[in-house]
Amino acid sequence: TMAHSKALLVLENFIAGKFVPCSSYIDSYNPSTGDVYCRVPDSGKEEVEAAVKAAKAAFPIWSSKSPLERSQILNKLADLIEHDLEAFAQAESKDQGKTITFARTTDIPRAVYNFRFFASSILHHMTECTEMASMGFMHYTSRAPVGVAGLISPWNLPLYLLTWKIAPAIACGNTVVAKPSEMTSVTAWMMCKLLEKAGVPHGVVNVVFGTGAKVGEALVCHPDVPLISFTGSTLTAQRITEKSAPHCKRLSLELGGKNPAIIFDDADLTQCIPTTLRSSFANQGEICLCTSRIFVQRGIYNEFLKSFVTEAKKWKVGNPSDPTVDMGALISKEHLEKVRSYVKKAQAEGARVLCGEGVDSLALPTGNQKGYFMLPTVIAEVKDESCCMQEEIFGPVTCVVAFDTEEEVIERANNVKYGLAATVWSSNVGRVHRVAQRLQSGLVWTNCWLVRDLNLPFGGMKASGIGREGAKDSYEFFTEVKTITIKH
Ligand code: NAD
Repeated sequence: TMAHSKALLVLENFIAGKFVPCSSYIDSYNPSTGDVYCRVPDSGKEEVEAAVKAAKAAFPIWSSKSPLERSQILNKLADLIEHDLEAFAQAESKDQGKTITFARTTDIPRAVYNFRFFASSILHHMTECTEMASMGFMHYTSRAPVGVAGLISPWNLPLYLLTWKIAPAIACGNTVVAKPSEMTSVTAWMMCKLLEKAGVPHGVVNVVFGTGAKVGEALVCHPDVPLISFTGSTLTAQRITEKSAPHCKRLSLELGGKNPAIIFDDADLTQCIPTTLRSSFANQGEICLCTSRIFVQRGIYNEFLKSFVTEAKKWKVGNPSDPTVDMGALISKEHLEKVRSYVKKAQAEGARVLCGEGVDSLALPTGNQKGYFMLPTVIAEVKDESCCMQEEIFGPVTCVVAFDTEEEVIERANNVKYGLAATVWSSNVGRVHRVAQRLQSGLVWTNCWLVRDLNLPFGGMKASGIGREGAKDSYEFFTEVKTITIKH
C-alpha cells in the first residue's frame, strides 16, 4: 500500500546523470531484523538500453579528457565519499548485515581508496617502444579506452567491489553501466548522488538496479557493451561466458574460493590463531578470500584446535550496529539456510562440530530475533572429499584437519576446483617459498592474511576466475592496445 511504501527507502536508477523511477520494484531486507526496509528498482532491458545509450553518448567527451583531468575528478569523488564515510558505513551495515565496525574500517575506506588509487596510478603508465634501427623501423604501442564497460558486482562487499571496477574503468576513459547486487544496492545509489558534485559528466557512470537474470543478462547480451567485469559466483560466471560468447566480449571474472590455511608446526600460534579466526569469520565468512579449510600439522593439531575453538567461542554475534559485536547477520534467509545445511551434512557424514551451529546457543537482542544470524562454526574430522571441504560455503564455517608432511598438504590443498587465495604459516623461510610456489592459488599470504598492495595482480586460478585486477592489470583490461610501426 502507499502508506506502507512511504516508510521505505525507495531507490531509483541513475541514467544520464538523472535519477529515474522504475515501474516495478524488488523488496530488500535488513538482514539483522528480517524486515523489508528498502525497494530496489526491478529494471530490465529497457533501462539497460537507456543506460547504454547514455554511456555511449558520454564516451567521446570523457575518453578525450586527459588522464590528469579524470584523475582530479576521481580524487574529488573520493573526498566526497570520505566526507560521508559514517553515513555510507551505516547504510552498508544495515543493507548487508555486516558489522558497523567492518563497514567503517574496511568497506568504505577501501571504496574511497579505490578512487584515490586509480586517480594516481592512471598518471603513471608507460607504453612500449622497440626499434629495428638497422632496417629503419620503430614500433610503439598506444592504449585507448574500449567504450562502454558493463560492471556486475556481488553482495558481500557492495561498494568496495563496485568501486574497484568503476574507478579503473573511468580512470582509463571508459564510460560504464554498473549493476550492483539486488540485495545490496543502497550505497551505490548514495554514490550516484555525489557524481555531479565531483564533476563526473552525465552519462559517464550509469547505475541500473535489478536482478542478474534481467539487468545482468541484458548488459551481458548488449551488443554495444564490449567488456564485462564480473565479480560473483562461478556458476553465474559460466552463464555470463555462455551468453557473451556470440559477441566475443572481453571478460574479467573474479569468482569463488575454497581457501586453505596451512599451518606448520613451527608457526607462531600467537599470531596465527587470531589471524586465522579473522580469515575464517570476518564479515560473517562472506569474503571470497576467507579461509574455509585449515590444515594443521599433526604435532600441534590438538593445541591449535583447542585454542582456536576457545577463541571462536568468544566472538560476539549480534546487532551489527553495536560496535562491540564481532559478527553480524548473513545476507539472506536463503543463504543462512544454505550455510546451515552444510553443517548438517558434515554431521551426517560423521564429522564433529566443535562449536557454533547446532552446538552452542545464540542469544540475540530483542530487535534481532528474526535476523539471519549464526555462530562461528568449527568442524573437525571431516574428509577431504566431503562437500564441506570441496564447495564454497561462504559463511562462518571452517573445517580443521590434520596433516603430516609438506608434500601431502600441498597436494590436499590443491585438491579442489578453486584456486583463489591461500595462507601459509611457518617460520621456515625456505618452506614458505617452496609451498607458495606450488600452491594453485592466485594469492598466497604467508604469516598474514588480507594484506593487499593494489598495484599487484588480484584474481584466481582454476574455477576462481579468469584475468587479474590491479594497477597494471586493470589498465590493460580497460584499454585496447594498438601496435604502430613507423618507417624512418
Ligand atoms: P552471484 O554470482 O549470485 O551474483 C553476482 C552478481 O551477478 C549479482 O549482481 C547478480 O545479480 C549478478 N547476476 C546473477 N545472475 C546473473 C546473470 N545470469 N547474468 C548476469 N549477472 C548475473 O554471486 P553473489 O552470491 O552475489 O556473491 C557471492 C559470490 O561472489 C561468491 O561465490 C564469492 O566467492 C564471489 N566473490 C568473489 C570475489 C573475487 O574477487 N574473486 C569477491 C567477492 C565475492
